[in-house]
Amino acid sequence: MTNSMNGRLLAKERAAGLREAVSKLDRRPGLAVVLVGEDPASQVYVGKKTAACERLGLLHRQITLPADSSQEALLAQIDALNSDDSIDGILVQLPLPKGLDTNAVLDRIDPSKDVDGFHPENLGLLAQGRARFVACTPAGCMALLARWNVDLTGKSALVIGRSTIVGRPMSLLLDRANATVTVAHSRTPNLAERVAEADVVVAAIGRPEAIKGEWIKPGAVVVDVGINRLDDGRLVGDVEYEAAATRASLITPVPGGVGPMTISMLMSNTIDAATRRQQ
Ligand code: NDP
Repeated sequence: MTNSMNGRLLAKERAAGLREAVSKLDRRPGLAVVLVGEDPASQVYVGKKTAACERLGLLHRQITLPADSSQEALLAQIDALNSDDSIDGILVQLPLPKGLDTNAVLDRIDPSKDVDGFHPENLGLLAQGRARFVACTPAGCMALLARWNVDLTGKSALVIGRSTIVGRPMSLLLDRANATVTVAHSRTPNLAERVAEADVVVAAIGRPEAIKGEWIKPGAVVVDVGINRLDDGRLVGDVEYEAAATRASLITPVPGGVGPMTISMLMSNTIDAATRRQQ
């Protein structure tokens, strides 16, 4: 599809630069991934992150804790990684099992090792326009828009979803890029009308094909963050892809759009963290 923003392609294009950045460091950057429990989707994501580290020359360490781990045990693990000099980036795979306090866990990560960009200090810096680590998925969306030369200045951008992980930082990044940003969520009425007015739509809600193709303004740019597995095993986004692709000037596929870029930006953030620590 010619109007496809292909995240696999862009991640491949970025790989050489990332390998070169790794080679310039005194030692290999280290990423620790903490997985609590055995959620199959989380295991797949962790596997992809590990494979990316191996491809690009980063050290990776996976720490797997049982699903019934206590909050104290998890926090103690984070403390150990915070003070481990071979680790530059720490990522706690979300969602955590019920009973664990996600905010308290994310707050505990040393902000200088918070390569996911979820710590309040990093989100605050982003809100102030002096970002350090930007959350990987929104950063990946921005990289896709830049690679396909989407000029955001003066455009109306609609971000659907307001999570701390995707929607919220995405809206901040689009604002910094001089788009006029609207954030929609589960209580937004007349979503179809909002979508029809937007030059750029970023869908991050986790509802399979909830954004209908016929809502898309002709010529709009569509970034589909959603990853939803249907009962028949197929993966689909939050946007009705086939119908939307006939109207959009550019659109990300699912899979192969935002997903590979999330991992690519995680690698960048980890290399940046190692570079900062070396300096
Ligand atoms: P959350 O569940 O944390 O947030 C979902 C957001 O969508 C909420 O703000 C919610 O509103 C809003 N929402 C839910 N239903 C609707 C609706 N029908 N209409 C409008 N808004 C709605 O999800 P995440 O942000 O963590 O993830 C969103 C999607 O992105 C998921 O499919 C996830 O798998 C995917 N994802 C993909 C990544 C990638 O690398 N491609 C990485 C991370 C996530 P409210 O606030 O009112 O509840």
